[in-house]
Amino acid sequence: MHSACSELKNLAMNSLASTFQVKQSQAQICSTSSILPMRSLLLILGLLGALQLPAAAAQPVGAWHAGVFPVSQFISYTSHYGSRIGAGGSAEWHHGLDIAAPLGTSIRSWWTGVVQDVINDEGCGVGLVIRSGAYEHVYCHLAGRVEAGSLRSGPVTLVPGQWLRAGQPIGQVGMSGRTTGPHLHWGLRYRGSWLDPARILRAMAESQRAQIESQRALAESRRALVESQRAQIESRRALAESRRAINESQRALAQNQREIAENQRRRRAVAPKGPYGPSVASFR
Ligand SMILES: [Zn+2]
Repeated sequence: MHSACSELKNLAMNSLASTFQVKQSQAQICSTSSILPMRSLLLILGLLGALQLPAAAAQPVGAWHAGVFPVSQFISYTSHYGSRIGAGGSAEWHHGLDIAAPLGTSIRSWWTGVVQDVINDEGCGVGLVIRSGAYEHVYCHLAGRVEAGSLRSGPVTLVPGQWLRAGQPIGQVGMSGRTTGPHLHWGLRYRGSWLDPARILRAMAESQRAQIESQRALAESRRALVESQRAQIESRRALAESRRAINESQRALAQNQREIAENQRRRRAVAPKGPYGPSVASFR
């Protein structure tokens, strides 16, 4: 076995070891390295650092955070999705969520999609339907008008077939159709069946929270990685330092031994050997 560990032990048996400063951490590295080459040890140290990273960074996040809340200014929800008492006093099903907002508030496309239809009728008033895969999102009671198949609302003009990105302005809050105050009626269909938009809004909020949490965990794991790399560099530097010190000590030891050998050789040369030891003449 040839390692810095055995070198350290050999040195400790020599009086020269006192000139060699071994840090506690290096002594620990030595005690675990007896069956491993130094390169493997460094690799293991690096892996141990990597194992301490938070696992949360690897967890998948739902895609709902890509959705955009459909109005730029929010006052309140004035009517939820589902059964409600209608204007005539009888129960009716409300196929959407009513979001009150000041007149002229910008309405944004909830998701990337294509304008499927523009609407101009008694109930919805001026509105449109956007298709995003299996989802259709409906917007009603917009300001403006529909002319020759084009929706004009504030600065926006839309025609069926037009592509929209998520968050793109699609008109302004108005009071067209059957409404008692300025609001956006926002409806959602999935494969032709109505959904409660509030469920989607909750999923969006949940996904945004998860995304923020995931970004935080990612930043934390990056910090830990940098810290681990720094410790690894530090450990390599300490090892290189120990090896230099070992080499230095060995050189000094070899020099010392050479000098001892030289002195002994000289002493033998000065003291002539005879059968009864040094001659009387050598004591004069
Ligand atoms: Zn409504």
